[in-house]
Amino acid sequence: MKKVTFYTLGCRLNIAESGSMAQGFAERGYEIVEFGQDTNYVVINTCTVTNKADSECRNIIRKAHRISPAAKIIVVGCYAQLEAAKIAEIEGVELILGTSEKHRLFEHLDSAMADEGTATIRVENSSKFFGAATQEVDSHTRAFLKIQDGCNYFCTYCIIPFARGRARSIKVDEAVAQSKDLVVKGYKEIVLTGINIGEFSGTAGEKFEDLVRRILEIEGLERLRVSSIEPNTVTDELFELLGHEKMMPHFHVPIQSGDDSILKAMRRHYDIAQFKILIERLHTAYPNASIGTDVIVGFPGETDEIFQNTFDLLAELPITHFHVFPYSVRKGTKAEKFEGHLRGDVKKDRVKRLNQLGEVKVIKFMKQFVGSEQSVLFEQRNRDGDFEGFTPNYLRVKVPAGRDLRNCVLDVKIESVDGTDLRGTLL
Ligand code: SF4
Repeated sequence: MKKVTFYTLGCRLNIAESGSMAQGFAERGYEIVEFGQDTNYVVINTCTVTNKADSECRNIIRKAHRISPAAKIIVVGCYAQLEAAKIAEIEGVELILGTSEKHRLFEHLDSAMADEGTATIRVENSSKFFGAATQEVDSHTRAFLKIQDGCNYFCTYCIIPFARGRARSIKVDEAVAQSKDLVVKGYKEIVLTGINIGEFSGTAGEKFEDLVRRILEIEGLERLRVSSIEPNTVTDELFELLGHEKMMPHFHVPIQSGDDSILKAMRRHYDIAQFKILIERLHTAYPNASIGTDVIVGFPGETDEIFQNTFDLLAELPITHFHVFPYSVRKGTKAEKFEGHLRGDVKKDRVKRLNQLGEVKVIKFMKQFVGSEQSVLFEQRNRDGDFEGFTPNYLRVKVPAGRDLRNCVLDVKIESVDGTDLRGTLL
């Protein structure tokens, strides 16, 4: 049996797309093995969000060749889209597919491999939407449905609109058909995924709210989540839909900075006042919801005072989960040329302070559920032998269990907070 392994860098959409490619290999009779084993093919799904991400991609390609010198290496995705020529120089690389072409991997595979000696490059960008309902490569019970790709925003720090192209979306009928298929396959939860889901209505000619409503109507589907949504794109209609019993009370709304001057320099599409109103409204309507956000720390020009504004705002708002990233330059972006780039140690210190705040806040949030009953969708047994899964508001719960609970939604009594997880017992 031929073997293939995957290495995925970057965002959730990349993870979903690797899942889709892995399914394609499995359907063709390949065994999917863990990265680090000797294989026939290695697929590296790349990211190009920062210069650091680029060098990480190159290192992984070299590492894959060292581990499995005879393997044919296929490099796909965002970094492949922008730096194909550079990748082609690395030993072992046979096929390079950009962000649109990676969806036609199997069409390219045979012809490319016949061309011994030189890497085949296919990086034509397309305005068509490609995507298939998929699960994570190492997935358990949640399916990721890609409904949107690309972005038209051109935030000054971000290269994504160049790598993935302009915003485009799935048709609502197609998304509903794929969701029904996932439910028939036994998935209980679907996560709607995209680069900028808020762009759906603007580019699809159909409304995102209609897509959500129709998926919620599917019989047999128990849970629906939206992976991340830009703060300026939450409409009143969507806000109402978030209260549907199948819609999980778990929202992810990136803030990036808590200071208007930085948001302006980033060219984000909202200001702090709007962001605050949205978060307070979400919290008032759905008090048990977890609310996550992304923050970029140390953007050029971020003074101590500006950083303190971000810190104070995040301390004040009912945000429960922080995803903190130090600003890291990406060549080709507007921000690369900005004045006032910060030293690494300053950024590191600010990241640490925000992470400490985040930890205090998430533990405080979790504590309020001790003693409550929660329905948990179980995913897998962990190394300690406990089964773990997620509450509707995306808190990880661990329970002792003698039997296999995978893909079961069960009621759990929450007993305690254990690090940044919850511990409970089955009811
Ligand atoms: S919204 Fe901004 S940060 Fe997000 S993908 Fe688009 S350009 Fe990049």
